[in-house]
Amino acid sequence: MLGELRAIVEQVSNADSLDGALAILVQKIRHTMKTDCCSVYVIDPQQQQLVLRATDGLAQEAVGIAYMPLGEGMVGQVAAREEPINVADARSNPHFKYLPETAEEGFFSFLGTPITHHRKVLGVLVVQQSEARSYDQSEESFLVTLAAHLAGVLANTDFQTVLSEPNQRKQLKAIKAGSSSSGIAIAKAWINRSSGELEQQQIVETDDVEHQLERFNVALDITREEFHSLAIKLSEQLPKDVASIFDLYQHMLADASLAGDIRNKIKQGYQVEGALRMVVEHYVQQFSEMSDPYLKERAIDVKDVGLRLLHALLLGPSAELFPTEPVIVVAEEVTATMFAQIPRQFLAGVISQRGAANSHAAILARAMGIPALMGLSFDINKLRGTELILDGYSAELFVDPDKIVRDEYYSLLAQESELNTLVQQDLDKPAVSLDGVEVEMLINAGLSADSDIAINAGADGVGLYRTEVPFLMQDRFPSEDEQFIRYRDILNSYRDKNVCMRTLDVGGDKQLPYFPIVEENPFLGWRGIRLTLDHPEIFLVQARAMYRAAIECGNLSIMLPMISCLNEVDEASRLLEQAWVEVLDELGLDEEPKRPKHGVMLEVPSVLFVLPELAQRVDFWSVGSNDLTQYLLAVDRNNTRVAGLFNTFHPAVVRALKQIIVQANLHTTPVSFCGELAGDPVGALLVLALGYRRLSMSSFNLAKIKYIIRHVDVAELSNLGEQILQSQSGAAIYSLLFRYLEQHDLSQLVRVSKH
Ligand code: PEP
Ligand code: MG
Repeated sequence: MLGELRAIVEQVSNADSLDGALAILVQKIRHTMKTDCCSVYVIDPQQQQLVLRATDGLAQEAVGIAYMPLGEGMVGQVAAREEPINVADARSNPHFKYLPETAEEGFFSFLGTPITHHRKVLGVLVVQQSEARSYDQSEESFLVTLAAHLAGVLANTDFQTVLSEPNQRKQLKAIKAGSSSSGIAIAKAWINRSSGELEQQQIVETDDVEHQLERFNVALDITREEFHSLAIKLSEQLPKDVASIFDLYQHMLADASLAGDIRNKIKQGYQVEGALRMVVEHYVQQFSEMSDPYLKERAIDVKDVGLRLLHALLLGPSAELFPTEPVIVVAEEVTATMFAQIPRQFLAGVISQRGAANSHAAILARAMGIPALMGLSFDINKLRGTELILDGYSAELFVDPDKIVRDEYYSLLAQESELNTLVQQDLDKPAVSLDGVEVEMLINAGLSADSDIAINAGADGVGLYRTEVPFLMQDRFPSEDEQFIRYRDILNSYRDKNVCMRTLDVGGDKQLPYFPIVEENPFLGWRGIRLTLDHPEIFLVQARAMYRAAIECGNLSIMLPMISCLNEVDEASRLLEQAWVEVLDELGLDEEPKRPKHGVMLEVPSVLFVLPELAQRVDFWSVGSNDLTQYLLAVDRNNTRVAGLFNTFHPAVVRALKQIIVQANLHTTPVSFCGELAGDPVGALLVLALGYRRLSMSSFNLAKIKYIIRHVDVAELSNLGEQILQSQSGAAIYSLLFRYLEQHDLSQLVRVSKH
């Protein structure tokens, strides 16, 4: 049965429309279960009824017409009770309701099961039989299992439905993306290049090898030149390591790689187009089959390089037509070159069918502050020229939105820009509350790299510098000198402000391309300090580079991620001491410079029970609420299925945060707060109410949070804190804080999407 089940799910998933999927579904089930009829009913939530959407066995004319109100008939009962119903003689059942248009009079037995996705019934799957007999347990289980699989598939077909049925467009709800980069964009879709161009190239044999080689060389030169100028163009907008993606592209064009292989194919007697297609497809397949997610992603880069070569070959230099107005770039696979190709002022947003948090495109979108959606399944050509609304805050897309939705988003955009102007006025002012309490405002940097530096005017320093980026963007561990130069640059750009650098925190969802870690549960695995303590050579090189930079600049502190026990702190402290002594010995200084302070991230719940001992060992703490929430609530922070459970306002999280601040005050240990919560208007209020006075957040949020602090009364908030600690749900805590913002005319700073 398992094989049949898989086959059905796969065929349904591959169908290119909802109706196509349902038609396959009913036929296959009828055939596999050897039954007389299979039908699927889909809920129309507005009408509160179930509509027959596909059938193999009932009258086809009834499809789209026959309906059953929720709770009525056997089908309505299945949906209302949210459980299967299996009866030998449906007609004698008190709930039976005959739908004449379906011509179901020939059927006696009935087995129906709800199709449920995220607790919501989407429809009902029904099999019927002319013989009056109950379906057996294994048949019932088969149908239930199938419905569970299909729920996910059907839930995602909204998008296809919208595209294939224009009259339904106007009722469109938002389409959810896998991941996103924040911001709103409203613009026409711009298809970067039609998908499948490479695949359309014919493989043709020829004797004319010399001419083909000549054509290829011209195309290669054009492409190399294009990459070169794109790299220069990007280097002005992006940090060096991010723009270095183009080095990778140039490498692919080297004779030892793609170019050499294409030349060989031409020499074997193929026309350039076909040779190009064969070689690129071969590379793409090799990368796609790799188990390491980073290397898998490189298939996209190879394809991009292949397409550039093809364009140069067919159209010559400057073949790409640039948009002349702001557009949302839509692509099967958004690549680094696309970002550089389109002038920034015309790049309103980006949508990519494929790609994940690990793809270069996602890293670039964040670095450039471009709203983006990644991981949406659709036929991109159907979007050509369509108006789109991209909501990167809620990871939602609206296709051809109606006037109401469009107006709402235009007003949100206007509101955003108005609020932005308002809060920017306070950027250079101190973060002092109405009752005179001063809050230290720090920024989280590193991920969006050096673009943060420009905004450091309003910040008191860097509360968290994530050092992973230089490690992620290379093809080997960076050397001590490379790290030293980078850290020194960063310290220099913040000069008289403290920069708290975190030692390497890879593992979990951050994979090094050259050091892949394959684990069943990566977030509970070899991550952060666990990995670097097992590899002291990596830790020591980084610590030495940091200390060398600190001795030159003097404004560094060092923080350890993922600490879960005291032993790890002792071990790391010993290594830090060793690195410090080594660096001092090498420099041979007469006078010992001031040693940078060292602290730990509080992000694994176990350390909350050893805080007094921790206070003896380190100079400061920093609360990582992202991981602390993940581990306290046992909710994977990257898993969309349980995203609703990731609640930083959960009473357990809030009480843990309170415990930390109480202990910090008791032991006079400085504590900052660097989780995402600090940059959220309601979250910032929460941490202020609990007693935190040192907040670290993304530079984009700094002005907004500063504005809020300058318009609230911390004594009032502390009183509210008492009430918060008594609350029994995250929703109650959130609404207490939201109400406070409303009372102080600040609630407009919480971006609320009505969808
Ligand atoms: C955190 O866990 O809250 C944190 C700031 O670290 P990261 O998001 O990098 O894991
Ligand atoms: Mg963390």
